[in-house]
Amino acid sequence: MTIERKPLPLPGGQRKVLLHSCCAPCSGEVMEAMQASGIDFTIFFYNPNIHPLKEYELRKDENIRFAEQFGIPFVDADYDRDDWFARAKGMENEPERGIRCTMCFDMRFERTALYAHEHGFPVMTSSLGISRWKNMQQINECGIRAAAHYPGLIYWDYNWRKGGGSARMIEISKRENFYQQEYCGCAYSLRDTNRHREATGRPRIRLGESYYGQPPREDPTASAPDETDSPG
Ligand code: SF4
Repeated sequence: MTIERKPLPLPGGQRKVLLHSCCAPCSGEVMEAMQASGIDFTIFFYNPNIHPLKEYELRKDENIRFAEQFGIPFVDADYDRDDWFARAKGMENEPERGIRCTMCFDMRFERTALYAHEHGFPVMTSSLGISRWKNMQQINECGIRAAAHYPGLIYWDYNWRKGGGSARMIEISKRENFYQQEYCGCAYSLRDTNRHREATGRPRIRLGESYYGQPPREDPTASAPDETDSPG
């Protein structure tokens, strides 16, 4: 199916963007939309929040696979999860969309903004806001705050959900059979999702089993991770 798209309104007449990507399902539509507009972009994968390591690698590898298909440059940034846990101290029991998430977005965008500044990207943006589970205003405020450290750097707060973006995100994920993560990413979101599942009679999350558009895979290495396995 051919997707009809209007050219994206990139701010400041720029053509070059650093795209912070959280995962393949969220960035698939963003990537295809930017490509359709002839935007020169690079993916920046910096997500030290993702826990445990197996889940981090599943999400990152899926994103690399999709980027390689299109020949899009992919920057694999650090996985400094100790730093993430240190910054989350005292916020372990905060709800999703609360102050722990503000810290988490700030941390990821601060590194993205630094990279953009050091490597000549005039615009940065993120795939995070395309998920309907996220608070877009909270994400945009964090992005704008991070970009403001560097004169001339713009955080592009485009609403990737509009114009059918949310539906295409799912379509692309099914077409590509992307790995389907079942929690936001950090140890605390894993813990809270498992608690909710247990309270509603559902099995705990098992990593590496769910893929869009496919029945659950029989992965002999799949396991229900221990979310308490965190530093500090
Ligand atoms: S719930 Fe998601 S956004 Fe919030 S702190 Fe955890 S990983 Fe980050």
